[in-house]
Amino acid sequence: MAAGGIDPRLVHAWLAGRSLARGLPAPVADSGGWRVDTDGEAELRRYVFPAVGPGLIALLDTIAQPRIFVKLCADADTLRALLPPGWSITDANRMMVTDTTPAPCPVPPGYALRSTTDDGVTHATIVTPDGEEAASGHAAEHGGAFVYDRIVTHALTDRILFEGKHATGVAYLVGDSDTRHEARARKEVLLCAGAIASPQILQRSGVGPAELLNKLDIPVVHDLPGVGQNLQDHLEMYLQYACTQPVSLYPSLMWWNQPAIGAEWMFLGTGIGASNQFEAGGFIRSSEAFEWPNIQYHFLPVAINYNGTKGVQEHGFQAHVGSMRSPSRGRVHVKSKDPREYPSILFNYMASEQDWQEFRDGIRLTREIMQQPALDPYRGREISPGIDVQSDEALDQFVREHAETAYHPSCSCKMGTDEMAVVDGQGRVHGMQSLRVVDASIMPIITTGNLNAPTIMIAEKIADKIRGRQPLPRSTADYFVAGDKPARGKPLREVTHQA
Ligand SMILES: Cc1cc2nc3c(=O)[nH]c(=O)nc-3n(C[C@H](O)[C@H](O)[C@H](O)COP(=O)(O)OP(=O)(O)OC[C@H]3O[C@@H](n4cnc5c(N)ncnc54)[C@H](O)[C@@H]3O)c2cc1C
Repeated sequence: MAAGGIDPRLVHAWLAGRSLARGLPAPVADSGGWRVDTDGEAELRRYVFPAVGPGLIALLDTIAQPRIFVKLCADADTLRALLPPGWSITDANRMMVTDTTPAPCPVPPGYALRSTTDDGVTHATIVTPDGEEAASGHAAEHGGAFVYDRIVTHALTDRILFEGKHATGVAYLVGDSDTRHEARARKEVLLCAGAIASPQILQRSGVGPAELLNKLDIPVVHDLPGVGQNLQDHLEMYLQYACTQPVSLYPSLMWWNQPAIGAEWMFLGTGIGASNQFEAGGFIRSSEAFEWPNIQYHFLPVAINYNGTKGVQEHGFQAHVGSMRSPSRGRVHVKSKDPREYPSILFNYMASEQDWQEFRDGIRLTREIMQQPALDPYRGREISPGIDVQSDEALDQFVREHAETAYHPSCSCKMGTDEMAVVDGQGRVHGMQSLRVVDASIMPIITTGNLNAPTIMIAEKIADKIRGRQPLPRSTADYFVAGDKPARGKPLREVTHQA
């Protein structure tokens, strides 16, 4: 069942011209994604989460042109403690720290997956063959990597059907109709609806915390308290600068330039529309306390809101900066039995002092980077937060008002063996039969870096299990551990910060 529809190239051309130049996520709202308010984040001024809802098939992947940054995991010890048997840190490396083409996942010829293995700044690999944006769904469509019996599009999964604890199929609605259809599973039901919808569907089907289900009069099939708990995300903010040379994407924000951008992409596969423009990024440690980089950067050669609004009316650029392993934990709760009703979501952003320290450090370190001599020919004034914003209190206020999601919800049906774990190392739901969850919700802890590639890796590993295939041999690729390396070297130009 796929909530989305097909994704014709014309739509992409329109988006390429209209949205990519404006900033990425506008299509999420424009093309049928849900806009869901979270439940009053205590620490943030406002929060609207365009949750992954009925959109185009693989909408996010196709539009987002996923940036592949591979900085996996928490610190090694934490991760080892969290992973169930059968998983190791190098499993992740197996799939992605390869630097080779083709990568060992369903990527058709012409696609490349590469990665960085150390901290520092890098050119981001955008999964895009010959200028055409790529997606796991798109890759499947064109690469023939998957074989589907039948795909029902515009199908909204209502709930999973059970005989006892055995999943036997799903009930779903098509389009706006209220007629209920059923599909029977020959072997297993695989739930892949993402970190918001997967726990919601499980709960609606009676698998989740009994207390919550009882309140909503949902018959309890299996009391599994972890379903919907442990929700994690990456929060980020952007620091904007004017650019003193006319080299930014600012002209692409003009509506009269956009039809040509879309047309060039559609007919030639080239031009501004052929990239999501997040072509540089990096990872740093803000303090020696972190064994792995804890701050991620994306660089955008235009100053604009991530949702494509409020473009700064001059040449500019910005760094998206965010912490990678927030200790804050949220939750997803179903609110009703109605599959069309949005769930209640609470991320609990910035709930720990570590969050605040990392964001303050993130702003100050970004300022230091931006003040280095290499950027002298381009760097204009600081537009946002603005050079007057210096004290801890002022920085905190900026974060409170401007931090927003990096669109990485995950971990809400975590794998593991403790009492809050929802699935085992093969995605099998604890206490149930013939039911797996295979998506970003089963990560036990959010990855350090973007989620798309790790999610594909998880799916590939579980697909091996489902199909009875020998897993790929464990990778011997190295992964970065800071050891006693200092978190930062001496900058070429010292920058003094007010405390
Ligand atoms: C705007 C945006 C930009 C991003 N950019 C990047 C990036 O550059 N790099 C990167 O690595 N990651 C990026 N991500 C994150 C990445 O896309 C996700 O982490 C990844 O797609 C998660 O995969 P998933 O399979 O868990 O869920 P999803 O990809 O969300 O797939 C879940 C699917 O289930 C469908 N669905 C949901 N509910 C139902 C239902 N009831 N019935 C039927 N179908 C249903 C949805 O329509 C969706 O197609 C971005 C995300 C967003 C939103």
